[in-house]
Amino acid sequence: MSRVNTVWVLGETPESYASLCSVARRLGDTVEAVVLGSADAAQAVKGAGADAVLLAAKRDGALVEDCVATVAAAAAERKPDAILVATTKRMRLAAARIAASAHTRVVNDATRVWVDDGCLFAEHMVFGGSAYSIEKATSAPAVILLGDGLLLNEPPLEGDAPEAAVTELPAADAASGLKLIETKPRTVESVNLAAARRVVSVGRGIENEEDLQMINEFAQAIEAEVGCTRPIAEGVNWMSRERYIGVSGAMLKPDVFVAVGVSGQIQHMVGANTAKTIIAINKDKNAPVFKQADYGIVGDLYEVVPKLVAGLKA
Ligand SMILES: Cc1cc2nc3c(=O)[nH]c(=O)nc-3n(C[C@H](O)[C@H](O)[C@H](O)COP(=O)(O)OP(=O)(O)OC[C@H]3O[C@@H](n4cnc5c(N)ncnc54)[C@H](O)[C@@H]3O)c2cc1C
Repeated sequence: MSRVNTVWVLGETPESYASLCSVARRLGDTVEAVVLGSADAAQAVKGAGADAVLLAAKRDGALVEDCVATVAAAAAERKPDAILVATTKRMRLAAARIAASAHTRVVNDATRVWVDDGCLFAEHMVFGGSAYSIEKATSAPAVILLGDGLLLNEPPLEGDAPEAAVTELPAADAASGLKLIETKPRTVESVNLAAARRVVSVGRGIENEEDLQMINEFAQAIEAEVGCTRPIAEGVNWMSRERYIGVSGAMLKPDVFVAVGVSGQIQHMVGANTAKTIIAINKDKNAPVFKQADYGIVGDLYEVVPKLVAGLKA
């Protein structure tokens, strides 16, 4: 048997369900989309590829997190074989609470999931990305957070998706001890590095914030998104947190990844080392990044990058 019976999928936004359902279809005979929040959100998920939509509705004054108790209670009763969760901060918390109430634990940031001989397996990175661990689910439900890399590379479902009916789950007592007072929008930079086909990543080789203009010009010339290493986003704060790549940031699988003034530490490179082509520019010929690069330019980025831009514009 190469499939299990029922797989639930859980995402933070309606858009995340299509790829979740596509992964779930490979694993289970029945796919059910679990939605936290409003009836509108559940309606938006109806055509995403699930056989049914289960709504854990949010009451007035409650937090979305409060709906997780409803999902955990429903999972105990309906016994899905697996719950696949699209990784976001909020969904990490939800997955942990569902797993805790099922007396199991979460597989984090899975890079691969499959069924063999009726058993679910998941692979994820360990030791800062220098090794993979493969885990087998020995009880149900298996609660698995799917990494961006897996979801973004999942081919869409073929054919028309079924129009799933929405069923509201019986509300469980949340008892979170928190009450929602107000919500207000915050300004975040909208960047989807994981979806970019070309990415230029800039590291501490860059000396001043203004010099990022040169990197932006280069990225524009090759139609790439700009990302960075963690010290650039969280040390000097020259770029937003959404732009840093690596084990604690964005995980990418672009066609081309250009590392500029990046040493190539595993914690960064693990976010990009599945790129089809890696190009490195570094003035230190012994920089570890060259061990992972398909093409390397040993040189000062302040000389190399302007020459590349000039050449590309010529
Ligand atoms: C638990 C943990 C998690 C982490 N997670 C992440 C993560 O998700 N993402 C991440 O990026 N980091 C992460 N880090 C940090 C990571 O270990 C490295 O410290 C970081 O990636 C190094 O950034 P860098 O390459 O920009 O800087 P450096 O290591 O300082 O390298 C700078 C490079 O620039 C080169 N250079 C300098 N001047 C020039 C020049 N003019 N021209 C060309 N080259 C030049 C130097 O030769 C050097 O190789 C994590 C660390 C820990 C401990």
